[in-house]
Amino acid sequence: MIPATLSYRRASSVDEALGMLAEHGEDAKLLAGGHSLLPLMKLRLAAPEVVVDIGRIEELRYVRTEGDVVAIGAMTRHHDLHTDGVAGREVPLVAHVAGEVGDPQVRHRGTIGGSLAHGDPAADLPAAVLACDATLVARGPDGAREIPAAEFFAGLFTTALGPDEILTEIRVPRAADRGWGFEKFTRRRFDWSIVGVAVLGGSPTQPAVGLVNMGEAPIRATAVERALAAGATPAEAAEHAAEGTSPPDEPHASAGYRRHLATVLTARALERAAGGSPAGL
Ligand SMILES: Cc1cc2nc3c(=O)[nH]c(=O)nc-3n(C[C@H](O)[C@H](O)[C@H](O)COP(=O)(O)OP(=O)(O)OC[C@H]3O[C@@H](n4cnc5c(N)ncnc54)[C@H](O)[C@@H]3O)c2cc1C
Repeated sequence: MIPATLSYRRASSVDEALGMLAEHGEDAKLLAGGHSLLPLMKLRLAAPEVVVDIGRIEELRYVRTEGDVVAIGAMTRHHDLHTDGVAGREVPLVAHVAGEVGDPQVRHRGTIGGSLAHGDPAADLPAAVLACDATLVARGPDGAREIPAAEFFAGLFTTALGPDEILTEIRVPRAADRGWGFEKFTRRRFDWSIVGVAVLGGSPTQPAVGLVNMGEAPIRATAVERALAAGATPAEAAEHAAEGTSPPDEPHASAGYRRHLATVLTARALERAAGGSPAGL
């Protein structure tokens, strides 16, 4: 349970962190809140030679409106996002889901950037940013680039980020007037999702549904979205929740159980997003 020997470097700005990544290449790993990376290092599933600590870069800790979007700095901690007034008003689905991550200790250390960059299909926030059609901003040696959430999650613990890039910002379209729902099924109160479902209601676009732990990467429930667009009721559409998914098959939750959960939780999340009336979607 002791990590392999490593060098520790602390960056005080994004530019400094980028310089350290360029210097050490693939031997380096960024450390944000450490709540996913450190457990992996202790289990020796990750053994970076150099850890670049970005945990004190204050310039990446903010939530603010910028025109049609809410811009969230990648180092914003789950607790701060959950309790932020702007986030709660303008992107309530994301703010709510941040408050459903783990326990208070995890939420006071873990960051939205770390959660997204880790690419864990069992994480909650990726499903929310997918449903919100957020845009992720990465900075690298060649400057900044924007990546739509739909193109960010590439596979199991794999994202579109290069080893020399830092996720700096998450840009979430403002959605104060759209209904939303989030359902997370766990064995115990603070556990990871066995399955989770995030729904952002329609208007001006169609309702969007993100799934937690239903494949190798965080995914959208596109069959549900298509059914809703074709006029299905939320209950009818939810029956399609497991289509095109490949949930993990584990002793405590089989793939079949997860498929069943996905349909039940999707129906509940759609209902909540609709505010009790299918017309509300
Ligand atoms: C007990 C426990 C319970 C948990 N329960 C849940 C849960 O219920 N739901 C849930 O969603 N999550 C859960 N988590 C995970 C938690 O949300 C983590 O905080 C999160 O996944 C990672 O964020 P972090 O800031 O700690 O990142 P770190 O662990 O520091 O980093 C994770 C990975 O992302 C990379 N990275 C970090 N920041 C950046 C960046 N800005 N740019 C590029 N790469 C970056 C790192 O190099 C590393 O590979 C739990 C964790 C623990 C320990």
